[in-house]
Amino acid sequence: MATPTLTFLGGVREIGGNKVVVQDGPDRLLFDFGPSFSPQLEQYYVEYLKPRSTSPAKDLLEFGLLPRLEGLYSREALADAGLAWKAPEFHAVFVSHAHADHAGYLELIDPSIPVYLGSGTRELLRAIETSTPMRYGDHAWRVLDDRRPVRVGRVEVVPYPVDHSVPFAYGFLVRTSEGTVVYTGDFRHHGPRAVDTHAFFRAAAEERPEALVIEGTRAGPDSRRNLSEEGVRREVDRLLERHRSLTLACTYPRDVDRLSTLYSAARAAERTLLVSPRTAHLLVSVAPLLPPGTVPVPGTAADLKVYGRKRKRTYLWERPFLEEALSSEEVRAHGRNYLLSLDLVHFPELIDLRPPKGSPFIHSMSEPFSEDDINDRVMHNWLDHFGLVFHQMHASGHASASELFEIVRSVRPSVVYPVHTEHPEAFVEAVSGVRLPELGRAYPIGGR
Ligand SMILES: [Zn+2]
Repeated sequence: MATPTLTFLGGVREIGGNKVVVQDGPDRLLFDFGPSFSPQLEQYYVEYLKPRSTSPAKDLLEFGLLPRLEGLYSREALADAGLAWKAPEFHAVFVSHAHADHAGYLELIDPSIPVYLGSGTRELLRAIETSTPMRYGDHAWRVLDDRRPVRVGRVEVVPYPVDHSVPFAYGFLVRTSEGTVVYTGDFRHHGPRAVDTHAFFRAAAEERPEALVIEGTRAGPDSRRNLSEEGVRREVDRLLERHRSLTLACTYPRDVDRLSTLYSAARAAERTLLVSPRTAHLLVSVAPLLPPGTVPVPGTAADLKVYGRKRKRTYLWERPFLEEALSSEEVRAHGRNYLLSLDLVHFPELIDLRPPKGSPFIHSMSEPFSEDDINDRVMHNWLDHFGLVFHQMHASGHASASELFEIVRSVRPSVVYPVHTEHPEAFVEAVSGVRLPELGRAYPIGGR
């Protein structure tokens, strides 16, 4: 019988875009399916320049941004792509978490291929579809339970919760006929669910795995400052203590932990946290799936309100949140009562809000990768124009280099495949058994 194999169709020398295929005899499973963040996709497509909705696969295949595979894509996605539709040759797609670089291309996948994901991740994708133009397509959705194995042909997959900058993230133990592959997805050790990450890697070590497919976002040289989630809380507390004016913050839209941190800090400082209708909708959607009190719920949580931008049109889903939303006039008049979460795309609100000069702006996201980042430049132009003071306070969604190498040493796999990193060679210098994956090559699993 043919040896099971591991193939990397994305996430090779790039951050994001993991597309990992495990094949065991006739059974073929795909782990994650989204665009890479850096740099490939952005060489051709940016916010204002997107693949056409009438020929998405064609427009991505043109630049090699999508693997040229048969038996995976839907007829609709393949329209005009020069790649014939074939009956599915993949038997399952597993999604580790709801970030775009792991789930963003699901819409292209044939609807008859089952998609496995956590119930929380399913809920997040639903909330994103309701409140943004993003689409994931129709699928045979299969909801996973923590640590409960599922079988796809001869392969057994066990989903373990891990801590990441979006809730409901999973790492997977993938048991093939020749041994186990550990697929980490994205994870960290310094967030509120660190115990989950530890438990996953303990289970992974007990498995005596043949292969460890590990993310390495922060494996290389990284001078950017990183705090723990608690560290962010302490710094926001200190800032709110020092300032008596409107304070602004911007976060990743799905970073529920950060929103909780900002909320707690605002309350402690006797302020109200103001969020967008989209964030309010997200919190309402995920709250029932999290332990009570984990996230503030709009409508019931004290000191949490929605900020209502002036709009010409509103969507049906946001109307309930807008009924009691606060206006820019109110926020401007009583700025010291508020911590306002304001995305870069909504910066024109500053023209009405006019915070006093010297008011703080908390950038609670990654610092830009490059020195010449246009969004970063534009953000600073706005902050300078209004005399706002920039404060960087962020806890990354990813483990540090030393933590990554420590994990490899504790899990002791036969082979380590670093993915989701621009610096896979950093692993070679630090630990043994590393194989730098090449795009599209099939690596045998087991046979030690
Ligand atoms: Zn992620």
